[in-house]
Amino acid sequence: MRRWNGWGDDAKIYPLPASATQYLERAIGEVDPFPDASFKQVLSTVPASRLAPHPLINTTPAERLLHARGQSLPDWVALRSGQIEVFPDGVAYPTNDEDVRSLLKYARQADAHLIPYGGGTSVVGHINPLPSDQPTLTVDMSHLNKLIDLDETSRLATFEAGVTGPSLEEELRKRGYILGHFPQSWEFSTLGGWIATRSSGQQSYYYGRVEDFFAGGHLETPIGPLTLPPLPASAAGPDLREMILGSEGRLGIITRATIRVQSTPEVERFYAAFFRDWETGVKAVRAVAQSDLPLSMLRLSNPQETETTLMLAGRERLVSLAERGLGLLGYGDEPCMLIYGLTGFRGILAITRWRVGALLRSRGALLVGKTIGEMWRKSRFYTPYMRNTLWERGYAVDTLETAVSWASVLSTSEAILAALQDGLKDLDERALVFAHLSHMYRDGASIYVTFIFRRATDPGETLLRWQRLKMAASETIVRHGGTISHQHGVGTDHAPYLAPEKGEVGMSMLEAVRQRLDPEGLLNPGKLLGDI
Ligand SMILES: Cc1cc2nc3c(=O)[nH]c(=O)nc-3n(C[C@H](O)[C@H](O)[C@H](O)COP(=O)(O)OP(=O)(O)OC[C@H]3O[C@@H](n4cnc5c(N)ncnc54)[C@H](O)[C@@H]3O)c2cc1C
Repeated sequence: MRRWNGWGDDAKIYPLPASATQYLERAIGEVDPFPDASFKQVLSTVPASRLAPHPLINTTPAERLLHARGQSLPDWVALRSGQIEVFPDGVAYPTNDEDVRSLLKYARQADAHLIPYGGGTSVVGHINPLPSDQPTLTVDMSHLNKLIDLDETSRLATFEAGVTGPSLEEELRKRGYILGHFPQSWEFSTLGGWIATRSSGQQSYYYGRVEDFFAGGHLETPIGPLTLPPLPASAAGPDLREMILGSEGRLGIITRATIRVQSTPEVERFYAAFFRDWETGVKAVRAVAQSDLPLSMLRLSNPQETETTLMLAGRERLVSLAERGLGLLGYGDEPCMLIYGLTGFRGILAITRWRVGALLRSRGALLVGKTIGEMWRKSRFYTPYMRNTLWERGYAVDTLETAVSWASVLSTSEAILAALQDGLKDLDERALVFAHLSHMYRDGASIYVTFIFRRATDPGETLLRWQRLKMAASETIVRHGGTISHQHGVGTDHAPYLAPEKGEVGMSMLEAVRQRLDPEGLLNPGKLLGDI
């Protein structure tokens, strides 16, 4: 069963060795862990629903609690402490377009807000109901989860929008195809959610970001249906798909989408390499990203992340062996680990491996083969479970991300790390901060930062620590001209930082489209545009 107040399937536990806790104690201090509120306790705080009965709407407290919050750090604080300010008044599970239309009609009549809900994996407050005199209805898309059509001639698959990553890939795999969109939340996030948040998968370098594979689809908007035909290319004016991508449930409910799929690759391999320092590593991966070699992934960790990842994975022996080995080879002081993936035909992969290896070596890399790369592959969807264990040991973890052009990667990453490292000084607390470059482009890269800090006994104090850190990092990103989000979207947490990126005219364009499609403001108020 899915965990109600944390990440993932509650049968899966990430075992953290004692050495990992000791490592954190040394880095940021000891914590005396304290228990969370129980499901039963929190359930008793759900107020009466303000919605009139409707055959598609479930108003039981349990359903409403399970849809109250997503996966951001403030969401975790609320769920774990039981201090949840607002719950949806009901949850509906539509099974077709007609149901969605009837829910939109109902919302209009009931003067209610609607929140489209995919997998609820948002990390920036997308699916949270906000305080309002009007009731909120969450529209859970999970019953719209089928493959509708596979056009093998055109390699276009049409799925209902509530399909999750594993179900989608399973349907394609049976027929010899793959989408290859693997965000770390893949187990639970949905096709509609990926589109609505402009999601990016770990191997988007090869399989494409959502804007590359989203070919068309269907939305139910408050003013009527909108169908986007899948066209290989078009010069017929602005592309309407671009308005739907990243629309965060504000413009309509996506009920199905047509996606570009590929045949299952013959082979896929992951390898690792080390660099002496961050700057050398960054320059080397830029050279690879600009070489047009057909890789599927490049992920370069800074020295702190290299060490922390291995320590928290309980690989103490590996760390000490690696440190000794790397030290002997002159890579010991500030080693940075690169994981890179190759995907495709066996013959091409062999040549690519040789070419990438030569290029990396010429730029100072020490190639260490497949073992670490394979370890990464095996744990790629398991690592987020560590958040649960860390929380239970008294530590809060969050991540943030941006993308900048290559000319600013080093300065921006340094500035974000410094802002976070200093962020809690006046509260007399420390944060453990580390980063990697997660997605590479010819012109730039995304910087993905993780920060760990101590929880306080008072949830308000934990939230304050997070707010300090988040604000310090977000302001630094804006100052350095980075995007406020490379892949997580805007939601509520990034909404204050959107205007500097889009500009006054840009913001008014977004608001005008929203106003035209949703004149009564039914859909997901406050998200993306920060309008309440
Ligand atoms: C552990 C973890 C790892 C993550 N890793 C990644 C990653 O690698 N890459 C990445 O891009 N993101 C990642 N995320 C963030 C998150 O998974 C993505 O934003 C994802 O795309 C959200 O999909 P969802 O189906 O869960 O949408 P939800 O969280 O349910 O909703 C997100 C937004 O989309 C809207 N929405 C959802 N479905 C529809 C629909 N059918 N029609 C209209 N609007 C809709 C909602 O209203 C909301 O505004 C991660 C999150 C977690 C918790």
